[in-house]
Formats: sequence, structure tokens, C-alpha cells
Amino acid sequence: GSPGQELRIVLLGLDNAGKTTLLKQLASEEVSTITPTQGFNIKSVHSHGFKLNIWDIGGQRAVRPYWRKYLGSTDLLVSQGLCPRVLSWQELAELTEEESLLGVPLLVFANKQDLVTAAPAAEIAEGLNLHMYRDREWQIQACSALSGEGVQDGMNWISKQIM
Ligand code: GDP
Repeated sequence: GSPGQELRIVLLGLDNAGKTTLLKQLASEEVSTITPTQGFNIKSVHSHGFKLNIWDIGGQRAVRPYWRKYLGSTDLLVSQGLCPRVLSWQELAELTEEESLLGVPLLVFANKQDLVTAAPAAEIAEGLNLHMYRDREWQIQACSALSGEGVQDGMNWISKQIM
């Protein structure tokens, strides 16, 4: 990868997981929404010399049939951690089995770590069965999208995957 490279990142996580807040932390400038199309929210942010085209697909079942059409050149998968309203490990496994996502690195943000009620990252990793992912690089990153803590570390991991 070279600076200025464009990456396509698929961001998974149901409503309220903190996706919008996370995007704002990653962005070095105003987040621009490219095209809201068929339930996808595509946002473009500049971060660490990369242009990240982030497909916020929210994990909604209704739009999943359309995924295949768009996932062709995905560089990275980013998911929010396990919480009652976030993807179950079965759902995550099902999604990542998608042919076009084979081998694509997976970063899971265990978000909202500033809350005492947040599940620790290790617990989330276990809950999502991340150890089962043998054919791709994966990483769990504790963070608070609200304070920004840990977001940078996640971004550093992303940079390493694509260099
Ligand atoms: P989205 O639906 O996934 O885009 O979620 P949002 O980014 O809109 O966040 C949903 C709510 O969770 C908002 O009230 C955020 O302020 C809050 N939130 C997001 N990230 C964090 C976090 O790290 N810590 C705390 N305490 N709240 C957060």
C-alpha cells in the first residue's frame, strides 16, 4: 500500500453500536457521505494518509441480499463488539463466509469501554468465536469511540494489514 491509497472498509454493527461516533474519530476532516444507496451508508474519510471508503452496512438482514453485489473489492472488515444489539457470532460467521470476503482482515472494536457495563474485549472475542478465524488476520481492539481511546491503535493495525 502507498499513501493516498483508497481502501474499501466494510463496517458491521447494528444501530447504536457507535459506528457514526467511530467514523468521526477516524476522520481527519469532515465526513462526507458519498451515496446512500439501497440501505448502505457510504462514507469517505481521510485517515493516516489513506482514503477510507467506509460501507456502513449495519448488519441489517433486509439488505444482505444486496451485499454480494458490492463486496467485490473489500480490503477490510470492521465490526463492533458483542452487545445485545450487535451481531451474534453465528451472524458474523455467516457474513464472513461470503466468498468475496475470504481472507479479508477482520478488526473488531470492543467499543464503549468507558462504560463500566461494557464487556471486556477478551469476553467479546470469546463471544464472537474469533479464535475460529484461521484463514484471515483478525484483531480485537478495546476502544471508546466517544473519548477516542483505542481508536488509533485499531487504525495502526489496519495500516499494518494493508502495507
Ligand atoms: P451507530 O448507530 O452505530 O452509528 O451509533 P452512534 O455512533 O450513533 O452511537 C450511538 C450512541 O452510543 C450515541 O449516543 C453515542 O454517543 C454512544 N456512543 C458511541 N460510542 C460510545 C462510547 O465509546 N462510549 C459511550 N459511553 N457511548 C458511546
